[in-house]
Amino acid sequence: MVLSDSITKLKGVGPALSEKLALLGVTTVRDLIYFFPRRYDDFSHVTKLKDVQPGPVTVKVKVEKVTARHVRRGLHITEAIIADETSKLRAVWFNQPYRPESLKSDAVFYMSGTFDFQRDRFILQNPSVEKVAEFAKNTARIVPIYPQVRGLKSYQLRQMISQLLPLIAILPDTLPPEVVKRENLLPLSAALLQMHFPESHQALQEAKKRIAFEELFELLLAAHLNKVEHRAHLGWEIPYEQAAAEAFTAALSFTLTNAQRRVAWEILQDIQHDQPMNRLLQGDVGSGKTVVAAFAAFMAGRQGMQSAFMAPTEVLAAQHAESLSQLLRPLGMSVGLLVGSVKPGAKKVLTQQIKEGNVDIVVGTHALIQQKIEFAKLGLVVIDEQHRFGVNQRKALLAKSDRLPHLLAMTATPIPRSLTLTVYGELDVSVIDERPPGRTPIITEIHSPHSVKPLYEHIDQQINQGRQVYIICPLVSESDTLGFKSVEQEYDRLQKSVFKHRRIGLLHGQLSSVEKDEVMTRFKNGEFDILVATTVVEVGVDVPNATIMLIEGADRFGLAQLHQLRGRVGRGKHQSYCYLVPSTAQKPSQRLQEVARSDDGFYLAQVDLELRGPGELYGTRQHGSLDLRVANIADTKLVSHVQKVAEAFATTATDLLQYPELHKRVERLRRVTTFN
Ligand code: ADP
Ligand code: MG
Repeated sequence: MVLSDSITKLKGVGPALSEKLALLGVTTVRDLIYFFPRRYDDFSHVTKLKDVQPGPVTVKVKVEKVTARHVRRGLHITEAIIADETSKLRAVWFNQPYRPESLKSDAVFYMSGTFDFQRDRFILQNPSVEKVAEFAKNTARIVPIYPQVRGLKSYQLRQMISQLLPLIAILPDTLPPEVVKRENLLPLSAALLQMHFPESHQALQEAKKRIAFEELFELLLAAHLNKVEHRAHLGWEIPYEQAAAEAFTAALSFTLTNAQRRVAWEILQDIQHDQPMNRLLQGDVGSGKTVVAAFAAFMAGRQGMQSAFMAPTEVLAAQHAESLSQLLRPLGMSVGLLVGSVKPGAKKVLTQQIKEGNVDIVVGTHALIQQKIEFAKLGLVVIDEQHRFGVNQRKALLAKSDRLPHLLAMTATPIPRSLTLTVYGELDVSVIDERPPGRTPIITEIHSPHSVKPLYEHIDQQINQGRQVYIICPLVSESDTLGFKSVEQEYDRLQKSVFKHRRIGLLHGQLSSVEKDEVMTRFKNGEFDILVATTVVEVGVDVPNATIMLIEGADRFGLAQLHQLRGRVGRGKHQSYCYLVPSTAQKPSQRLQEVARSDDGFYLAQVDLELRGPGELYGTRQHGSLDLRVANIADTKLVSHVQKVAEAFATTATDLLQYPELHKRVERLRRVTTFN
């Protein structure tokens, strides 16, 4: 038997069973070995019959008498009198017609089951039975309980996996021996054995520790190797000019915050080297990322290099172009806006100018800049609200040049540190963890769905004062049955009732991007008082005049998402409000309470990660690399530690091929984690 064998090679695994296993993602022997229990039941303690108490129990007994009968159609009962040297008890099994035969033996058995009251007496119900002389899989041990699909029982999995024990026992280690030794880890084979058939709780803990370490080690090593490979490309040197930096900051209408200064320094340091920068700039909404990016673009422009700014939507691109013009035109830089709605004639002129190097900063949507544009000399790419951007995509931006532009990816989604190390491990990270002074904190409140009237009144008052309002609903249309409000329904309702005297806009993901942009622009221009929307407004739109964010069905959204939505208000000088209205009047979830309590995006992101795991977050579900079965990605300390170990290993071990299995796995991970 080898790891790549099909599980159909195992005894008792026919087509029906293998189909069920396939549903669990298990097709090979390797899959099965790495298919870990969901939990464990502790039946390891053997109790004398005279001491048996109600509840789960294991006894060591002989069988004195067995009877079996059909009581009525579909109900078969096996009863046995079991005995040890201290006492006797009755055990009973339902619908196990094969059971009497297996009990007719002089052998000593372990029986693990629940001792419970039934009718007028206590009996041992449906216990698992094994001969003491055999390898215990189902009784008298810490029993593994596997994730289930219909018709596939844990004992069947135990039976299959127990056939693999000889193979597991000789599996070579995948981690480098020096790492296993230094980190005091169990060897792989021992760890896998203990994962399935633990001898003790301590051994199980050790096994989990080892497997978790290995999962993270491979992931972090892959990320590190990608980073090293990326650094091997040639980029542009953009020297730091003191005088220019002073001119830039002097031209601002405000003073940079300490955090902005720190990250600007990190970036300006980075781009001085001829290794292409690969950096993620994280900063809560309103923390002022644009000006930092503009700083770098200015430095590039001073060297005759162009910068490309990419935004997810046309509206955002236009916003960027506007603020970049304000910042950089006075300093002699030219800014061009390249979006789909630019007239063909003008577009042609602009693309020609870009090609000739007459535009310093080009702003557009991701798609547009990537596909069509040739630059004279592209030194810097800034991407807003997109964490992933591949080397290949970047290469596509190069106009017949052998160098890669520097990359600055910006995001307002705070990403917990453990995730930046793993999923975004090949990026360097800068964080703006401070907001510009003078912002009034947003007032966040949770309101029961039965008491929204005062909220509507408040909305009305705010509109009277000239302000604008977002109302968010979880769904587009009334397609599901969960009772969540849909935007369309809510739009109709509000327009016909409470807010019939108001101008209401409707925005959701099923509109085309042109339609979306149009609605957003009209809202920004003040043509709507209220915007009823789905989470499509989540990303980066800046309407400083909006002061209320009302989120319906708030329990439907993730923590990070709620925080992101809240960030749509509080962007101007007016006091802003965020109202969270869950779909039921029950006690609000911990998630909602956390959002109401804290406006620290990083704190909330960490809580979110702990509550929900990485799957839902940051698109990691599709990502594939985060197939962590044992490791807890929210464990920042462990992740940072393993990251250091992986990096140290990579610098000493120059030839990964010495570790064939590790090499194979890491190469696979490099392909899924890489930005290509
Ligand atoms: P975000 O990080 O959300 O992209 P922006 O870059 O759009 O934030 O900045 C939000 C607003 O704050 C802009 O109007 C910008 O001009 C302003 N701003 C940025 N930095 C500062 C600062 N240090 N002091 C005052 N206002 C600032
Ligand atoms: Mg922004």
